[in-house]
Amino acid sequence: MPGSPPVPPPPPYRGRFAPSPTGPLHAGSLLAALGSWLLARRAGGQWLVRIEDLDPPREVPGAAEAQLATLAAFGLLSDAPVVRQSARHDLYRAALEGLLAQGLAFSCSCSRSELAAQGGIHRRCVAAAPRPRPAIRLRVADGSMVAFEDGLQGRVVQDVAAEVGDFVLLRADGCWAYQLAVVVDDADQGITDVVRGADLLDSTPRQILLQRALGLPVPRYLHLPLLLDADGHKLSKSSAALPVDAADPVPALQHCWTLLGQDPAPLQGARSPDALLRCALSHFDEARLPARLHFHEAASKTATSTT
Ligand code: GLU
Repeated sequence: MPGSPPVPPPPPYRGRFAPSPTGPLHAGSLLAALGSWLLARRAGGQWLVRIEDLDPPREVPGAAEAQLATLAAFGLLSDAPVVRQSARHDLYRAALEGLLAQGLAFSCSCSRSELAAQGGIHRRCVAAAPRPRPAIRLRVADGSMVAFEDGLQGRVVQDVAAEVGDFVLLRADGCWAYQLAVVVDDADQGITDVVRGADLLDSTPRQILLQRALGLPVPRYLHLPLLLDADGHKLSKSSAALPVDAADPVPALQHCWTLLGQDPAPLQGARSPDALLRCALSHFDEARLPARLHFHEAASKTATSTT
């Protein structure tokens, strides 16, 4: 009797942490790193680190190396060689050419001020004249609604055409846009689960549209609360946020563990990051993760001295 074809097993869990080298790691980035590491390890999966160094004007020389050294001091090591986006232009170029060939992307010479006059949302080109180096945008059809179930924040729905418009894939300054690179890399690295800060929640529908356009699998998404300083600024943009102290990793890890809603007691006696992470793994309870978009913290609590 012919049986039904075997259902292929789902791919094993593969998570990642993808910092941009725009400065040292602060408590907010450590929170995302630890959260994604715990979820990956708890699922018996792999955890990869990718350096998102595609925006030279925003990068700080030496920051990538410093971030990797800090992660290592915290015991958070990539299970595969660290990938750097700056070495992967060919992949982004191939994806973009595919979209252009299918008519899903187009050159756009609109300036910022021309777009601002249209409410900042691109629905058609209004450029007075073509630019020598136009940007390239994804064409977002009217009514492009994207809905997904976030692992922590619940159902998210966005009308990408109305709320974002045709979005940039290649910038007019020649830099690849984050949205294109992140989608290409997550697929190329076989990422099944994207765990990151809630500042990227409203980028996710754009990334899902791009995955559909490129015929790529859509990973699961989980957005952790974002850590803000006392004035409500993102730590990466806050002058009050000092880097986490790589020379004294245990208190910073304990602090992030507590912010992740976990019981502080079992980790109290940990003396080294490795011992702490082992203990954290055996006590981690995903159901305790806080489903909120951000925390406000006094800068003095999130920061530790670098000296
Ligand atoms: N590189 C991005 C950042 O540091 C994160 C990208 C992502 O996790 O998708 O904000």
